[in-house]
Amino acid sequence: VNLNNLSLTISAASEKQWPVTKLPEIALAGRSNVGKSSFINTMFNRKNFARTSSTPGKTQLLNFYNIDGLVHFVDVPGYGYARVSKKEREHWGEMIEGYLTKRENLQAVVSLVDFRHEPTHDDVLMYQFLKYYHIPVIVVATKADKVTRNRWSGNESVIKKVLQFDSTDEFIVFSSETKQGRDQAWSILEKYF
Ligand code: GDP
Repeated sequence: VNLNNLSLTISAASEKQWPVTKLPEIALAGRSNVGKSSFINTMFNRKNFARTSSTPGKTQLLNFYNIDGLVHFVDVPGYGYARVSKKEREHWGEMIEGYLTKRENLQAVVSLVDFRHEPTHDDVLMYQFLKYYHIPVIVVATKADKVTRNRWSGNESVIKKVLQFDSTDEFIVFSSETKQGRDQAWSILEKYF
């Protein structure tokens, strides 16, 4: 993958704007502030390629990033964003559900969770939703630099247990600070494109 060849194909506000293409897609989902933008920026060795979920207006858009003409990474707006109205949350739900259940290009979802804590209720709902639709999931546990090594295997066990992790899925311990897990993530993601 040539990481110098990246572009934003579209920030789609609705299904009509999803790109008409045969490129495979890998979606990235997680609650706001989990470290999704940092994950994308670390994967691509960029500082400010993906904007954080606190960016105004970003919460209602699906960002399709074209990676070297090989694959689209689809940045799904973070869930559990406090400052949005009930109506906006419902719109978010319909948009995401529509994308995840109807999009033929979709190959897998990177589901980001915070390695420090038990998965939230929303994290569990998202994971179970993906499993219900038989979508392969790569769980990326973020902010590993904040967890001492002697807690890694325990935290991994708790997260897997709470999610009811499917052993055919992948689990990656990741840090944007140390780049822990970056090479592993690339080798897993590349299988889908
Ligand atoms: P997003 O809302 O999911 O896109 O989250 P961001 O990528 O904007 O990250 C939210 C906050 O967590 C920011 O303050 C980041 O600096 C911090 N953060 C993200 N990833 C890491 C990480 O791997 N380690 C540490 N220590 N902080 C991180």
